[in-house]
This record gives sequence, C-alpha cells and structure tokens, in this order.
Amino acid sequence: MAAQTDTPEATRTKEAKRILLAAPRGFCAGVDRAIQIVELALKKYGSPVYVRHEIVHNRHVVEDLRRKGAIFIDELDEIPEDSDAPVIFSAHGVPKSVPADAHARNMFYLDATCPLVSKVHIEASRLHEAGREILLIGHAGHPEVIGTLGQLPPGTAALIQTVEDAAAFEPRTTSENLAFITQTTLSVDDTAEIVGTLQKRFPDIRAPVKEDICYATTNRQAAVKQMAASCDTVIIVGAPSSSNSNRLVEVAQRNGCENAILAESVRQIPWHLIEDATSIGLSAGASAPEMLVQEIIDTIGEKYETEIETITAAEENITFKLPRELRDTAA
Ligand code: SF4
Repeated sequence: MAAQTDTPEATRTKEAKRILLAAPRGFCAGVDRAIQIVELALKKYGSPVYVRHEIVHNRHVVEDLRRKGAIFIDELDEIPEDSDAPVIFSAHGVPKSVPADAHARNMFYLDATCPLVSKVHIEASRLHEAGREILLIGHAGHPEVIGTLGQLPPGTAALIQTVEDAAAFEPRTTSENLAFITQTTLSVDDTAEIVGTLQKRFPDIRAPVKEDICYATTNRQAAVKQMAASCDTVIIVGAPSSSNSNRLVEVAQRNGCENAILAESVRQIPWHLIEDATSIGLSAGASAPEMLVQEIIDTIGEKYETEIETITAAEENITFKLPRELRDTAA
C-alpha cells in the first residue's frame, strides 16, 4: 500500500493509478521470427545451435534461449572446427563477410536477419552498383549499422548520425549522385530533421523508394507520442542496448513527459516515480517480451488501485516467412 498522507481524500488520490498502455508495443514480426528460428533450429537439429551475437537485444530472451540449448558467440571462430551444429545470424543483420566466412568454413548457417533490414542491405548494394555515393543515417557501432555498412566495400558509405553531420557532409561526387538510406530503428522525428537538412543542401539526393524506418519502430513511437503528454511518468520496457527502446524514451520526453525511463524489468522500476504519478504510460521496445510488461502491470496493481486504458496508434498483423529449412518443423 502507498504511504498514508494527511487526509483520507489525499490517500485515495495517491492510491489510484491510471495506466496508459501503448498499442502496439513489444515484439515486432522481425524479432518474433528471429526467436522462432532459434527455437525451431533447436527442435530440428538438437542442441547446441550457435547464435552469433544476441539474437535480439533482450537479456530475458537470450537467457531463455540459452537454457533451451543455444550458445551465443561473438565470432564464428569460437565454434569448434569439428562441430556440425548450425549457426544463426541475428535479426540485426550481418556484414557480407560473415556468411562468406561461414561458407568458407563449411558451416551450415541460418539467417535470422529481419527482412526489413535485408531490404536496406539490398538497397545499399543496388545503389552502390549504380555508382551512387551513399549516406547511411544511423548510430555508429550499432550491429545493424555494422551489417549495412558491411554490404559495401569499406569506406564507401558515409555515416550520418546527427543534423550537424548532415550540415557538415562534403560529397566526393556531384550532389545528383547522392543517395541516403537509414537504420530501421531510428527516431522518426530526428531522422526527418536530418533528411530535411540533407535535402535542403542537396535537393536531388535520392531517398529510399519505401521508408527504411520500419513499421514497428514507427507505430511504437506514434503510440508513445500520443500518450506522453497525458502521463506523469512513462516506463519503456527494453534493454539499454536496444535502439528502438531508447528512442521510445526520447519520444516520451520530447512529447510532454520528462519522467520517461527505460527499465529492463519490474526490478528496475523507480517506485518513487510511480508513487508520485497519477497517470503512468507503459510501452515496450520491439525486442521486449509482453510478459515483462504484464509483470509491471501486476506489481503496480498489487500496490495501488489501477485503471488500464489502451492507447492504440495502429493495428499490426505483419508476419515474415521462416527460412525454407525450418518451414516443415514449424508446420
Ligand atoms: Fe525488423 Fe523493425 Fe523489428 Fe527491427 S524493429 S526486427 S527492422 S520489424
């Protein structure tokens, strides 16, 4: 129970919490597919299966798969030479050199790269083949950015992280020859600003035919944007390494709720923020399981009276095909 305050009325106000639940939130089709690929590979080929890097940015997902028999590695040379176990590449995508290396080592691999990341990879390769100078808008060091840059010869694409980078960029060729692509999990608003700066300087710069920021990132940000101003605090369930989860925190902060925080699980909730809040916004990044959101709702419900309202920004019904090798096992 909440601490008692001076009047019964004040106590009642303090104990009633309105939870605004963002929809959509949590798992996207790409994450769902990547997890399914590991689980189906374990079912079909047995344990272990090797997974290069975190399959998705979530400790709970990774631990769960580890318990089921997945071994997470950083690089392919960690796999014993005599192993015939499959290796799976993460949803973020990998540089071209990784499957090439697996092939050279005679490894059997399954690619869990999200098809929307693969779309950006194909785009990058086509632009390069067409002789375009490519600008990749994204965050340095993020696995997806490493994977996308790795579709191109080293040094071919320029990485643009900020409006300042866009303002300072010096093309190597003519501005008509420029093209930009983006990471899939960026802030929609920040990216629009960066693109605006580039288009102002280079009116003929080529944009992706279809938006690179994915539907899941866009929808999750729209729902948080819609509810932020009505919330005293916003909790985004997600890992510190998850780009789309961090962007949701920023979206909430910029759209009316300064008290927006990232929490990996219920254990990281700063309860003083909940205690002081009447309206609590709740969402989850694309790699956070719904179970973690429900755990937070249940725990708030144990401490306070709650009323839940869903704020829906979009309906999602997207699914992606599994790799051919696993379709029978899934059936
Ligand atoms: Fe694919 Fe978007 Fe999900 Fe990333 S966030 S895995 S790009 S659907």
